[in-house]
This record gives sequence, C-alpha cells and structure tokens, in this order.
Amino acid sequence: MEITKEFFENVNLAYAGFFDHHELDDDVLTIGGWSVLFTEGNSIPKKIYILFNNEVIATSEEFNVNRDDVKVAHPEAPLNCGFTIEIDNSFKDKLDYLEIFVESDDFLYQLNKFNGFLSQVEISGKCNLRCPQCPAVMNGFHNKILSKNDLDLIEPLFQQARNICFDGFGEVLLTKEEDLEYAFSKIPYSKDLKFHTNGMLLNKRIDLILDNSLPLRQIIVSIDSLSDDLYPVLRKGGKLSVVLDNVKLLKEARQERGQRFPIIIPNMIILNSNYKEIRDFIDLASTLDNKLELIHLYDLEKMDDDNSDFMYENEKVKHNLKDYKKTLNESLEYAKEKGVEVYFSGSVTSEDEAESEEYIGEKREVKECHYKSNGRCLQADGKFMFCVWQTSPVFDWKKTNNVDPSKNPRARKVMEMLENNEIPFECSTAGCPYVYGRESSEVKDEQVIFVKGGWSATKA
Ligand code: SF4
Repeated sequence: MEITKEFFENVNLAYAGFFDHHELDDDVLTIGGWSVLFTEGNSIPKKIYILFNNEVIATSEEFNVNRDDVKVAHPEAPLNCGFTIEIDNSFKDKLDYLEIFVESDDFLYQLNKFNGFLSQVEISGKCNLRCPQCPAVMNGFHNKILSKNDLDLIEPLFQQARNICFDGFGEVLLTKEEDLEYAFSKIPYSKDLKFHTNGMLLNKRIDLILDNSLPLRQIIVSIDSLSDDLYPVLRKGGKLSVVLDNVKLLKEARQERGQRFPIIIPNMIILNSNYKEIRDFIDLASTLDNKLELIHLYDLEKMDDDNSDFMYENEKVKHNLKDYKKTLNESLEYAKEKGVEVYFSGSVTSEDEAESEEYIGEKREVKECHYKSNGRCLQADGKFMFCVWQTSPVFDWKKTNNVDPSKNPRARKVMEMLENNEIPFECSTAGCPYVYGRESSEVKDEQVIFVKGGWSATKA
C-alpha cells in the first residue's frame, strides 16, 4: 500500500521511541522497538506501520505493554509500549532504510533509529551574494553543482537519513528548476528536509517550493540584519526590501493553498555589529511561524581584509561576552513573552557557558562526537566530511563513486581515531565542541590547506 503525503503531514517529528533490535531466525525476520508516552491521558498506540520508501510493508496492532528495560531508561513515562513484528526476510539487508510510525487516536509519530543520521548535501556551490562572513568568500567558490547522476548516487543516503539539508556554500535557489525538482523527487515524504536561502530568489520558486512541501518542511532565510545600513554590508549583493517582500509572498501563497509546510524561519549569524537586533528578529519571526534560528559566527582564524568593511575578528562576540550574554538573555525572555521559539544552530548553544576567551561553549571529549556515526556532509565538488567543522575533507565521494564512509579506508581510520579519543587531521583546529580549536598530532597531508575553526578547505 502506498502511503499519501497527507499521512506524513500529520507526523510529529519529535522522537518518541526507538526501533532497536532485529532477529533473523529460521528465515523469519523480526524487528522490535518501543514507543513511550510522556503525557498522562494520551491514548495508547493502536497501530504500527513499517515503511520502505513510502510503501507500507507491514502493520501491527499488538503491543507488549511496559517493556522493563524501557521502564528503567524512562522512569518518567507513564506507559511504554514494546512491539515486535515479523516482516519479509528480503528486508534483512535494508534495515537502515525502514521507517516506523506509531499511531494512536491522538497522534502519529515516527520512531527513531539508532542510525537515523543527518545528511547535509550541497546542491549548488554557486552564489549570487558575497557575504563577508562566508568561508566560500574567503576561500573561493568552487562553483560546482550536483548532476542527476550525483543525486542518483546519493539517493540511498537520503533514504537512510532522518534529517536532510541542502546547505553548503551556494544558494540553493540558483539551481535550475528541473534540477531542484529532481533533487526533491529523491527524498521520501517522511524526511525532515530543509535548506537555508538568502531569500533573493524566493519569489521565482514559490510554486516549486510549495509543490514539494513535503518533503520540504522548513526554509530558513538568512537575513543577518534588519538595518538598512548594516544589511548591505553583511549580505553583500542582497536587498533587504526584496528579501522581506519575498518571505511575505511565500507565506501568503502557502496560506492561499492551505498548506502547513514549509515553515519559514528567519536566521541571523550573531556578530558584535548585530546582536542588539535579536529582539527585532523575534518581532519578524512572530509575523511568520514563530521560530527564529541563531548561529554564532564560526570561530575561523582569519586575517582581516583591509579592503572590507567587515572585520572578522572584531565581529566575534567572545570579545564582548558580558554584554552579549545580557542582551541575549533579555531577548530570550522577550521571545518567551511573544511565543517565539529561538534555537541555536552550530557549535554553540544558549545553554553553553563560555569556558575561556578562546572558545564560547561547552567542551566535550572527542570520543563523544556523534557525527562520526551519524553525520554525512557532501559538497558538490566531491568533498566528503562527517560534519561542517572538519577542516579538510575525508575523501572524494565523486571520484570514488561512493557515499558510504564504512567503505572508505581513510573514513574508517577517522572514525577509529575519534572512537579512541584522538583528533584526526581532518578535525584539526575544528571549532566544534569536541575539538574546540585544538591541533591534531597526526602528520597532515601537505596538499591540504587547513582553515582554522571549520568548513573543509580547498585542496592546494
Ligand atoms: S570536526 Fe568535531 S564534530 Fe566534526 S567529526 Fe571532527 S570531532 Fe566530530
């Protein structure tokens, strides 16, 4: 049975359980997991759907209520519902691709898989703006785009991923309509797909966006400043009035169609020159979908460019932490009053405390890095990384015709080193919470130029 788009529109993407084991016995394949109800009064799950590529391959209405191991892990949950279900054994090699949905009278949600990873795929390396804080402006644009063959190669990765974003160094909406349509067509409706855009071309792609929502659930519009003086400096080549009009147009067209998706989220990279504007961005978010994304400027080591109005080092809020934190906390209070959800993306979160002047945020052990097992970051020029903070690529997925790190010797070595709490040279000086700018002791490949802080560098 093929499942409709409407089914997925009602899925709550919050994790509420796991698909956590499978057994193959006498050629009978059994999979199992559990869902947890955190709220008293919810009706218990009544049906489980197992899906493969938008097709229902099995359903069950039986639950072995209250699995003891789940009770230990989630003592706060009033009820947990374990399940086991037999499926066709031809799926034994495709377990990573299965998706499990749980339905009750009140809700429908998807169970997490231990390997449901994030996949970041750069659709285009071309951009129509030249924002001074962008690593591609500093290092040079590679200007490569994904071909249909590339997308065919990446398709299994899309199917296994839970979260997918089309971000990279380029502007997604510069991609030709038919190519973008092809990229959307590779992604099952159940996925959480999003991308960032500078918003300048939104008006030209409204139908395409709305036709493909789902799988597209979020569009994040990078604006950075709502001031007529600062915007042209931070978003060089863009026009604030055009972006704001486009965002409004998209929202109106979505409403006219009666669609819930994509949710529209303004975004700002927090800098010394704009952090006083967080409150204005909260006001803007309250006119859209009540969500605001903040990102701290990557802590790249970069010589300031005398020819630019933008002084990279001076823009890092770590040099003005006390006032920044005060402003941020007041703004977050204001957001609560307005009912706007503010979230941080990137290496630093609002909860993290500055532990030194050198790095804002919490420091963790390298072996805690989960990107090695669930991060996949593919640039359109062929660079494969586990995350955006890696300072050099791990391998070339285009040349090797492979997007699976377990099939690449260097990627396996990187995973092994991280597991052993060692910093591989690909992560040397990364601005992530695990490396926080430290150097690797591994001898580095002379052909690679490192960019301190993050984003994979250009090969020499
Ligand atoms: S750079 Fe940091 S987050 Fe990325 S793979 Fe290395 S340790 Fe993990």
